[in-house]
Amino acid sequence: MADKRDYYEVLGVSKDASAADIKKAFRVQAKKYHPDMHPGDKECEEKFKEIQEAYAVLSDDDKRRQYDQFGHAAFDGSAGAGAGGFDFSGMDMGDIFGDIFGDFFGGGSRRANSNGPRQGANVRMTIRISFEEAVFGCVKGIDFTYKQECATCGGSGAKKGTQATTCSRCGGKGKVVYSQQSLFGMVQNVQTCPDCNGTGKVVKEKCPDCHGTGYVAKRVHKEVEIPAGIDNGQSVRVRGYGEPGTNGGPRGDLLVEVVVGRSNEFERQEMNIFSNVYISYAIAAIGGDIRIKTVDGDIIYTVSSGTQTGTRIRLKGKGVPSVRNKNIRGDHYVTLIVKTPTKLSKDAEAALREFDRLTGDSLNAESGSTDAPRDKKKGPFGGIFDKK
Ligand SMILES: [Zn+2]
Ligand SMILES: [Zn+2]
Repeated sequence: MADKRDYYEVLGVSKDASAADIKKAFRVQAKKYHPDMHPGDKECEEKFKEIQEAYAVLSDDDKRRQYDQFGHAAFDGSAGAGAGGFDFSGMDMGDIFGDIFGDFFGGGSRRANSNGPRQGANVRMTIRISFEEAVFGCVKGIDFTYKQECATCGGSGAKKGTQATTCSRCGGKGKVVYSQQSLFGMVQNVQTCPDCNGTGKVVKEKCPDCHGTGYVAKRVHKEVEIPAGIDNGQSVRVRGYGEPGTNGGPRGDLLVEVVVGRSNEFERQEMNIFSNVYISYAIAAIGGDIRIKTVDGDIIYTVSSGTQTGTRIRLKGKGVPSVRNKNIRGDHYVTLIVKTPTKLSKDAEAALREFDRLTGDSLNAESGSTDAPRDKKKGPFGGIFDKK
């Protein structure tokens, strides 16, 4: 008893945790260490028992009070308060497991019969697609390994001429119930049958092709349609290409997650596209037609005269389609950046000097100004350089 862990610590909750917090913590911990998830792992089994025990005490107001007062001694008979010998056998663990399995398999309908058909696990893989492929969708060939029913034995796992027989340990149920004497009296544990791994059948002479598993690994090539508008990290579901189900349950799915490559031209934020377009000083001042690259190809856009650098224009409906409805599209925002010429010919330089001479007065009048609103009394720098 001396080395027993604190129950609150076992569940990872604080001493003043609410009943709801305790239940939540128990569910999280029990899921993590449930023996069904770790067949044959003794350490997990011990952990799981510890969690059950902690929950049995902390979920019961009376027992929790006793525990808070006397610690583990409350239940080993050594406490002076006459608190020894609780009987936990009446506790309905089945209800809690029902909750857990309900969570796992996404439905209350399977809860009633955990030995019934169960869908196989989903399998995940990633593929890379380009920026444009994500915008417009594409068809991608993928190769993966698939557990196919063994043709030699028809999935039974038994050698030709022999048959899989009903598991004698669990009577074909795939589950065994252990009644264990614990600190709290008899506790019933439902576990996957170790003899048949939950299948309810045992194979005496194994099929040589699948080594008794009933499945063979097969390389599969499949063309997968990636919908327009898919974004980085989203997945496409290929139904029925996951792990086989158990007890006649359906197969899981294959989830193909896309990793979208970067574009040199465009940035994407959900359904909108962003890009920069450089325009000449003359176009910015006078106005004129420019070419803008969009995901639909180049378009001609008329820049109005007197366009400032940093002006953002919106190209409606030139963004990314909605992954749910490709007729709905985001927008493309273009930031116009006025390019300052860096290499000037003699003639160009002369022209610019002439331009400056012609416009100089008006420009100089604004030189040194900022766009920030000025406090006239404090001067252009907010008074920080003013003499005290
Ligand atoms: Zn086989
Ligand atoms: Zn069995």
